[in-house]
Amino acid sequence: MEALVLEQKGVLSLREIDLPLELGPDDVKIRINTVGVCGSDVHYYTHGAIGPFVLREPMVLGHEAAGTVVEVGANVQTLAVGDRVCMEPGIPNLSSRASKLGIYNVDPSVRFWATPPIHGVLTPFVVHPAAFTYKLPDNVSFAEGAMVEPFAIGMQAAARARISPGDVAVVIGCGPIGIMVALAALAGGCSRVYVSDFSADKLAIAGRYQGIIPVNIGERALKDVVLAETDGWGADVVFEASGSPKAYNGLFDLVRPGGALVMVGLPVDPVTFDVSGAIAKEVRIETVFRYANIFDRALQLIASGKVDLKPLITDTFNFNDSIKAFERAASARPTDVKLQILMEGEGN
Ligand SMILES: [Zn+2]
Repeated sequence: MEALVLEQKGVLSLREIDLPLELGPDDVKIRINTVGVCGSDVHYYTHGAIGPFVLREPMVLGHEAAGTVVEVGANVQTLAVGDRVCMEPGIPNLSSRASKLGIYNVDPSVRFWATPPIHGVLTPFVVHPAAFTYKLPDNVSFAEGAMVEPFAIGMQAAARARISPGDVAVVIGCGPIGIMVALAALAGGCSRVYVSDFSADKLAIAGRYQGIIPVNIGERALKDVVLAETDGWGADVVFEASGSPKAYNGLFDLVRPGGALVMVGLPVDPVTFDVSGAIAKEVRIETVFRYANIFDRALQLIASGKVDLKPLITDTFNFNDSIKAFERAASARPTDVKLQILMEGEGN
């Protein structure tokens, strides 16, 4: 099949590649319609590795996908040919200890699309377990379906935070994931969410949503804003979504006593932070790695109209132009939130 292949760091090609397409009894075969370009795809393209995951042989990119079921395995009851679906890109071992505990996202043997050596889905067809394939409600488009994956990370962060109705939250970092976290926090019951960044362009996009208050930390210190707006008490929940080590300086000044810090952003190197500052307020610290048991909930929220991800899709490229899409993503325009690739011959 033709696919977008990352041959090695910095080298992409659209070419034929042999990909397995045998359908097991619990699988479905999906014709891919839309694939989102993710920061991780771009990072493999520009750096050839993310942490311990190193590209050693050519790999198909793409893991944020939606499409149409074209074949179902003998045991599949929940999906039928013609169903519009989105797919959870990680396939855990369902017999593993992690899966039995319900935390299949941290199963050490999980196979995740476009994470070396596992191929991604920038290719016309894929076979996937029905258990990790979700039917799109009629009012959710393929483009929105391909946004469920990044939104699921925001949802996982909101779930980890254990938000109470009316909570005030802070999200550090206004990249695509920061915006997803802010939207999930609002949908999860926060009364308002302060989102900080240096980029006025990124903040302007986030600030279009009701309930999100942009804070340009090139102009004002985040601590000053948060303390002024909470009578000096601090935010109930702080989400770190920038991955910048600098974000950890004075981080616990932002959190109220007994509040929560949720770590979402991945710093490249180990980070030093103020343990005493956290202990003095008995801050609860949570971490987020992908998501588990979230995709169906994300779809429900999108279908309900409580979360509108459509304004975050900045541009759409045809599959034939997918190398251009990656070059554009690698140029990191601050006004680009999500670029998507539409597979040939499909409508949206
Ligand atoms: Zn992604």
